[in-house]
Amino acid sequence: MRVLENFINGAWVASTGTTLLDVKNPATGELLAKVPLSTSADVDAAVQAAKAAFPAWRAVPPVQRARYLFKLKSIFDQHREEIAGICTSEHGKTFSESYNDFGRGIENVEHACGIPSLLMGQNLEDVASGIDTKVLRQPLGVFAAITPFNFPPMVPLWFLPYAIATGNTFVLKPSEQVPLSQRRIFELIQQIGLPNGVVNLVNGGREVVEAICEHADVKGVSFVGSSNVAKIVYRKCGETGKRVQALGGAKNFIVIMPDADMERAVQNAVESCYGCAGQRCLAGSVIVPVGDAYERVRDLFVAYAKKLVLGDGKAPGTTLGPVVSGAHKDRVLSYIEKGIQEGARLVLDGRNATVDGLPDGNWIGPTIFEDVRPDMVIGREEIFGPVACFMRAKDLDEAIRLANASEYGNASSIYTTNGKAAREFGARVEAGMVGVNIGVAAPMSFFPFGGQKASLYGDTKAHGAAGVDFYTERKIVIERWF
Ligand code: NAD
Repeated sequence: MRVLENFINGAWVASTGTTLLDVKNPATGELLAKVPLSTSADVDAAVQAAKAAFPAWRAVPPVQRARYLFKLKSIFDQHREEIAGICTSEHGKTFSESYNDFGRGIENVEHACGIPSLLMGQNLEDVASGIDTKVLRQPLGVFAAITPFNFPPMVPLWFLPYAIATGNTFVLKPSEQVPLSQRRIFELIQQIGLPNGVVNLVNGGREVVEAICEHADVKGVSFVGSSNVAKIVYRKCGETGKRVQALGGAKNFIVIMPDADMERAVQNAVESCYGCAGQRCLAGSVIVPVGDAYERVRDLFVAYAKKLVLGDGKAPGTTLGPVVSGAHKDRVLSYIEKGIQEGARLVLDGRNATVDGLPDGNWIGPTIFEDVRPDMVIGREEIFGPVACFMRAKDLDEAIRLANASEYGNASSIYTTNGKAAREFGARVEAGMVGVNIGVAAPMSFFPFGGQKASLYGDTKAHGAAGVDFYTERKIVIERWF
């Protein structure tokens, strides 16, 4: 069986870790590869390579660094279907979801191609007589990113293009659950001829994360994953004086007003809840129909959810893939049990879903709870599966109160034809990303991405201008020439 290697200093090298985890296709159960849990020694080797590469790389003019990214964009485009296929095999999402997943990643490469403009600083002549001031934007050194399982190609590309475009060097730790997309992406990166050590990849889990957070030569860390781990990474990086952005979990509320364009609104909300089998940090998770919209929304929602086609993400016609692993399936099922125990009403039960010919897939059908209260576990915690929870609100005020009671604040959406309601929702809801008649409010690469409250520890969001800020130090030069 294929054992994955780490990519350090321009070469694929065996991990020194002896524990291997299985990487399985979540639809078929097929064993695809084994991934090592690398050690702190492997992290040190990657960081030392990145540190050694930094002085020469930062001296490459931004316009030349951008040219590497132009090449990367072109190679990625040529391999978009291949990477999408790998992503579906290891993650389970449908082929078109995988294709768009990588597409969103590629858009970050495109945006980072503009680095000569993005890096421009400020200046002012004659701050005092004969004295000028300018702001330089300089790279800091070695940056690392630690990424989750749910967008295997995309999330690492929220970081890598900006890190290297700004002149830093980079170490990635992809999710050990889905390491294959990045394995292939790094092989494609090899083709653009970056100097050795500029980008590195270390497979593994907790030990690798801890070693990254504690390493004295790592200047900054981007983390994306659950809030519990985000908090740990944020704290550890704070203790060691690193820059840190730690994007956490979510519980996203979708408010549907009685005046909404109902068919389209509900269809879109169903896509938000069940796309990527609900394993999306922007997934609609709590549906809040307002006032007398409740019954209409619920009936339409159930009808659309029943139309979803559960199956292998590679099979044409599949609209709902499996969840990523058996362990994750058990976790989602335990939330469903908990919801029943807490007294929520199960109006659509996906627990016993099966797919013909695929007995080993991690199947959960679309599931819907009614009468969910904000104090219930299923009303509070992130389920991260194909489970929608309905809450009632008598008016917009109450809907906003329900959303704002959540500890999370990643995204929230409203469906309405009333501009005033939409405006008020956008102004008052405590969420970093707000959708108006859009169920998955995902900012494109040239805007910043990130939430509030327990959905983001740190003060810099990912990509866009925020990404460039994270990777650069603003140095102020005040000069006088005698
Ligand atoms: P996770 O927290 O289990 O894992 C994320 C990363 O942390 C992985 O690389 C993993 O190896 C590492 N890790 C796991 N446990 C660790 C520990 N105890 N100590 C140190 N490192 C550890 O998250 P996941 O299940 O892979 O991903 C799903 C989560 O990611 C969800 O909560 C989802 O909302 C969140 N997410 C958030 C965003 C966002 O933009 N806010 C985007 C995507 C995913």
